[in-house]
Amino acid sequence: ATPMSVMVGVGKAAEYGALIRQGDALQTAGKLDLVILDKTGTITEGHPGVTRVHSANGDESRLLALAAGLEQHSEHPLAEAILAKARDENIEPEKVSGFEAINGKGVRGELDGQTVNLGNRRWLEDEGLTLDSLSDAADTITAEAGTPLYLALGDEVLGVIGVADAIKPDSKAAIKRLHHAGIKVMMVTGDVEATARAIASKADIDDYRAEVLPEDKAEVVSEMRGKGYTVAMVGDGINDAPALAAADVGFAIGTGTDVAIESAAITLMRGSLHGVPDAIEISRATVKNIH
Ligand code: ADP
Ligand code: MG
Repeated sequence: ATPMSVMVGVGKAAEYGALIRQGDALQTAGKLDLVILDKTGTITEGHPGVTRVHSANGDESRLLALAAGLEQHSEHPLAEAILAKARDENIEPEKVSGFEAINGKGVRGELDGQTVNLGNRRWLEDEGLTLDSLSDAADTITAEAGTPLYLALGDEVLGVIGVADAIKPDSKAAIKRLHHAGIKVMMVTGDVEATARAIASKADIDDYRAEVLPEDKAEVVSEMRGKGYTVAMVGDGINDAPALAAADVGFAIGTGTDVAIESAAITLMRGSLHGVPDAIEISRATVKNIH
């Protein structure tokens, strides 16, 4: 495209709330044939809530107090859900010390000389805990598209908490527009398989990768580029920054973290996925104009 038509295209995109930070992104956007979406905060609202509290010994207050004690030190969206639930139930968070966040796995602290771990199944099993007695409760949580978070104090498994995040009201319509434009849509998430499957099915996503560690999201992008796709990555979190940078075009959700925004060529100021098909349509129109 000529510099003039690119300027017009960039201006047009801005009207739709898509801020183009790297000039060549507008031209590349028209060639995209695969859009990879992060789940939390991108397809979903990013403000999850607790759906279920299942205590192994019947003491749900204690389970929530310990979980909230850990999460009050965390900045993850999942933490917000657990703290709100504890607040609603007037449960005072336990004073957990030595807090540590384990990226993509969970959170850890100490209470009376014992380790408290709250996180996903794979991580707690790697730590040597047996979670089979909670399988039924966890299955109920994942069937409702929620994420099961297991809590263990020392070697005792205290229960599982379900946290779910609503899909943004317009995510499905935006994904439909991408399909109409001939684009394949994929989701990458650190969440478990069953939860990912439930969300992908609700939002009409063609394919997904679950249990992807934060550092491995960029590898999925590179793998798909290696298969010949021209790839967009859409994300909002610190976790997503390397994947945004690895894509042909990175789209950051404008309400997301600064690191994500700085790593992406395009910022979606309205936080809606519609900004992706908007940018693609504008790009295609811009490029066509000069032929
Ligand atoms: P996503 O890809 O959905 O943004 P993350 O990579 O941040 O997910 O986290 C992956 C998984 O690690 C979560 O689904 C959860 O099981 C666990 N996890 C991460 N952070 C926390 C936390 N603060 N509390 C509990 N579990 C967590
Ligand atoms: Mg996210």
